[in-house]
Amino acid sequence: MQQRAVFAANQLVFSEGDRGDFAYLIEKGQVLVFVVRDGTEIPIRVIGEGEVFGEMSLIDDEPRAASCRTLEECQFIRVSREHLQERIKAADPIVRLLVRVFLERLRSQTEIIVGEDAIHRAHKTGKITQDQKEALERIGLEHKIAEAIEADEFVPFFQPVYSLPDRKLRGSEALIRWRRSDGSYVSPLIFIEAMESSSLILDAGRAMLDKSMAALTLMQGMMKTDKPLFVSINVSGRQFMHEGFVANLEQLRKKHAVDAGQIKLEITERIMMEGERALEVLRECRRLGYGLAIDDFGTGFSSLQYLSKMPLTDIKIDRSFATQVQEDPKIAAVVKAIVAMARDLNLHITAEGMETEAQLAPKNFIGVDYAQGYLFSKPLPIEQFLKIPT
Ligand code: C2E
Ligand code: CA
Ligand code: CA
Repeated sequence: MQQRAVFAANQLVFSEGDRGDFAYLIEKGQVLVFVVRDGTEIPIRVIGEGEVFGEMSLIDDEPRAASCRTLEECQFIRVSREHLQERIKAADPIVRLLVRVFLERLRSQTEIIVGEDAIHRAHKTGKITQDQKEALERIGLEHKIAEAIEADEFVPFFQPVYSLPDRKLRGSEALIRWRRSDGSYVSPLIFIEAMESSSLILDAGRAMLDKSMAALTLMQGMMKTDKPLFVSINVSGRQFMHEGFVANLEQLRKKHAVDAGQIKLEITERIMMEGERALEVLRECRRLGYGLAIDDFGTGFSSLQYLSKMPLTDIKIDRSFATQVQEDPKIAAVVKAIVAMARDLNLHITAEGMETEAQLAPKNFIGVDYAQGYLFSKPLPIEQFLKIPT
């Protein structure tokens, strides 16, 4: 909670050693940060309008390192510990590590200024917190990912997508795999989050587009189907919003001489957090003829407002529905409603994660155009995909 507070001149805001409860943004007035040593007040800093103070102990959970008093009548906005902690917890672990390191440095400076015994602090900085451990692991993983991109170790696997009810092969979804030099594969569950939260996804994403389109030309040339096959490619928000995404997409499409209509870009509704800019890129992709699929539908907010605004061609019903639809009539009703709505919006519907015939029982997914899942096939390397009977 943020709230305004007015303090008279010469009023103590907090004392050294207190547990931090609020951070303060100064709207009006000035405060003095000070410590008391041997009965003498030692001023540290004057802080004025537009500046923040008292945030340190909210972030690192240590007691206040100094006291603070108003020099004149002041008006503050107070930010509670819970509010700030929420933000910090939501932040990237590397940002959290940096904040922590920065704070420790700041605190040890305060100690130098006031000549306080720093043994306690040195002891504390010597041990690695869970947070720091996570951040260090993350930095290590990002480093390995960067090396693997350099060594061209990321490749797409392809999971076939079939039409319903006739079960004809219509296309595939490209899913990233990390092929280690020893021939083993690493699942994206291990690395995709680290990749997507840094710019690593840009290079890896480009390689996926390139290799998926190359594979599409092989599929086209070697597999006999009555309609051209499509390939669905996952595109992360960062990648999609990156300047030059569409130009790069077009360049690769021309290089491989494939039709935009054979490529579906899979995005999640999180993209809409980017506002109007996201809509512009989506429209541009549609104008060029690419398919646009909303992935994992039904897991996030699944805002109907977004659904009507986005220029989509496809919707993919999240695989969590596949497992629940048989047991829970309410889930079955939700699936039915999603399908009805998607039909009215003229969208192609894919049911993901189909593992058993029972899940696909006609009544569950009436009106669904495509199905995908282990029932048909796991994601396959291109050599194996090309051998699928058509
Ligand atoms: P997703 O886009 O929802 O992909 C479907 C995931 O479900 C894939 O996991 C697939 O292997 C798995 N799957 C397919 N059929 C079944 C089934 O019948 N049962 C079960 N239990 N799982 C099934 P995968 O390959 O591990 O990918 C995980 C996620 O990583 C993907 O979820 C997607 O969000 C992300 N991802 C994969 N490739 C890329 C990529 O090239 N770029 C980006 N940005 N994200 C990717
Ligand atoms: Ca997907
Ligand atoms: Ca999905």
